[in-house]
Amino acid sequence: MTAATIFESTVPWNPKRPDTVIISCVDGRWRAHIQEFTVNYLKADLHADFLAVPGGIEPLTLFDLVPKDFNFFRRRLESLIEAHGTKRIVAIAHQDCAWYKERRLFSFKLDLRERQVADLKKVAARLRETLPEITVETYFARLEGKDPERVVFEPV
Ligand SMILES: [Zn+2]
Repeated sequence: MTAATIFESTVPWNPKRPDTVIISCVDGRWRAHIQEFTVNYLKADLHADFLAVPGGIEPLTLFDLVPKDFNFFRRRLESLIEAHGTKRIVAIAHQDCAWYKERRLFSFKLDLRERQVADLKKVAARLRETLPEITVETYFARLEGKDPERVVFEPV
């Protein structure tokens, strides 16, 4: 017996495996902007895979510090790459990230943005080394202007 359906999506099903994965934080305030960036700048349509945890790529920096978190993330990313034949990894960090702020993942010498950018660079270097056949891109999303504030992306 099948359960009664309560909703039917109007979005056509596309069985093709996406070749791009976007790695970002879960913070929903940035989601629409990241999706727009994905479509209009990265040209990777909304069909791109999306791997999101609080703090984005931060677990991939924890190889030595918290290997459990590192391995959780790494195993899932590797499994996705294997299943989908991923050719491109796009990691996006964002301004005012609660994960970084609450865990004070920055020192008095390094501000929050500097720490996130350093993490993006560190993870990208490691991914390029371990997955040489995959293109790795990194970006930082932040607010610019006032009334209204706009979300802008810069390459890292
Ligand atoms: Zn965040």
